[in-house]
Amino acid sequence: MAFEFFNNNGKFFKGNLHGHSDLSDGKLTPKEVCRSYVKKGYDFISITDHFLGMFNYPIAVPELNIENFTVIPGAELHTSKMGNGELWHMLALGLNTKFAPPPQPNFLINNKSEDIESLSLRLSEAGAFVSLTHPEWNGMTLQDTLKVKKVHAIEIYNHGCAIECDRGSGIAVLDQALNQGKHLNIIATDDSHFHIDDAFGGWVMVKSEVNSAASILEALKNGNYYSSQGPDFKNIKVKEGQLEVSCSPVEKIIVSGYGSASIYKNKSDMEAAVFNLALLPQKKWLRITLIDKKGNRAWTNPIYDY
Ligand SMILES: [Zn+2]
Ligand SMILES: [Zn+2]
Repeated sequence: MAFEFFNNNGKFFKGNLHGHSDLSDGKLTPKEVCRSYVKKGYDFISITDHFLGMFNYPIAVPELNIENFTVIPGAELHTSKMGNGELWHMLALGLNTKFAPPPQPNFLINNKSEDIESLSLRLSEAGAFVSLTHPEWNGMTLQDTLKVKKVHAIEIYNHGCAIECDRGSGIAVLDQALNQGKHLNIIATDDSHFHIDDAFGGWVMVKSEVNSAASILEALKNGNYYSSQGPDFKNIKVKEGQLEVSCSPVEKIIVSGYGSASIYKNKSDMEAAVFNLALLPQKKWLRITLIDKKGNRAWTNPIYDY
């Protein structure tokens, strides 16, 4: 069952999976980016610079002597083009310098670029954890999403896009894709560039035995994590038609499912709730959302067998 990882050995490590340095269009050097996240108590990050010819296809892994802090090699890749004629943006974590870049010199649409099916397949064969980014910001549709066969996750929240233009959500396209039977996990990220206050707003909590790039990547690929802007899940159990959730104090716990199906509990400083799953009769998928007093959310990955 997909929530068993709460009871696995190890602990939860906090990380940002999407951010930029001055190797592409960010403000800070890779080392300064790392130090900013260390100061805020993060256990790991990936610096995912724009993987374009104009930046010399960067993969930032700065040499740091910071104990208990991991940098996962990664990049934000681009290729032409989505249904609306815009460039694809896609995160790949665990990317190796030997990965052959798609022929995408800059942010302009380029008809010689690799198609998305081929790029996502190559990334997945290279062992990367692959995610679709900021669907609301660049108008990614359900049809676009379904075209990408090999993808682990989609951003349910992109903090930079929320701050800059109020287009930070990925919920609409995520839930439609789940309704179509696509299995997709969820990530919340910063997409920090540090030109404005666009960091520390969305992260993942990954259950892993150790804080190493290999172990965290494995846990990400297995879906052993949740995403947050603040609240924390403590445990989740599904048994005999009931769903038990325990968490940090929140005001609302929502279970969403196929189509318009959803159930919720509303109470001040709630730290646990039990749901009757007979109220979600479609049994196709469900995912859980927490909302705290400040309006900050946390999200589980979807499960399909309940
Ligand atoms: Zn992007
Ligand atoms: Zn980005």
